[in-house]
Amino acid sequence: VKPSTTYHIEPQTGAGLALNRGQFLRIIDPEGEQVADLMAFNRLDTTERLSSGRSLDYNGTIFLTKGHALYTNRSSPMFTIVEDTAGRHGFLFEPCSREMFRLQYEYDGVHPNCLDNLTKSLAPFDIQEHMITTPFNVFLNVEIRPDGTLAIHPPLTGPGDHITLRAEMDLAVGVTACAAGLCNNYRCTAINVEVFDK
Ligand SMILES: [Zn+2]
Repeated sequence: VKPSTTYHIEPQTGAGLALNRGQFLRIIDPEGEQVADLMAFNRLDTTERLSSGRSLDYNGTIFLTKGHALYTNRSSPMFTIVEDTAGRHGFLFEPCSREMFRLQYEYDGVHPNCLDNLTKSLAPFDIQEHMITTPFNVFLNVEIRPDGTLAIHPPLTGPGDHITLRAEMDLAVGVTACAAGLCNNYRCTAINVEVFDK
């Protein structure tokens, strides 16, 4: 497969891109142990967006992988996962934000964060911060314990692990290289993205 467009997302930053129906989006972890948040909107009507709740409901699992679809808030398929060498992703967490770093890390000041990076990346598509909801937490390794508590572990990814999604509608997409500590094993690295037709 020859990539038609490649994006290199530097550590703790993001990228915005248009994806047409039928095109493929491959998100690659070049070094391993790096989470990427993926948020997407119907490019022709940005009131339609990725929905964690609907995706988990219709798939009957919170661990989405090859063969599963990601749905919109209007219950339309938005992506289909066609390849997944990582095998573990999250879909429960809002993007890390300035407030999260204040609350959970007692960070005083503006820490780089996925919410700001998604907002900046999606601004060219007239998408504003308040429209961004729970992204697909690509490569996030979350454990749900029997008592319902959650634990974040380092991603299971090694260098080159990736997930490939087919767009089921024309999309505006934001992808980040997550800026947080814990979920990236305290080492924030880059994410690579490829967009291709077949
Ligand atoms: Zn993040």
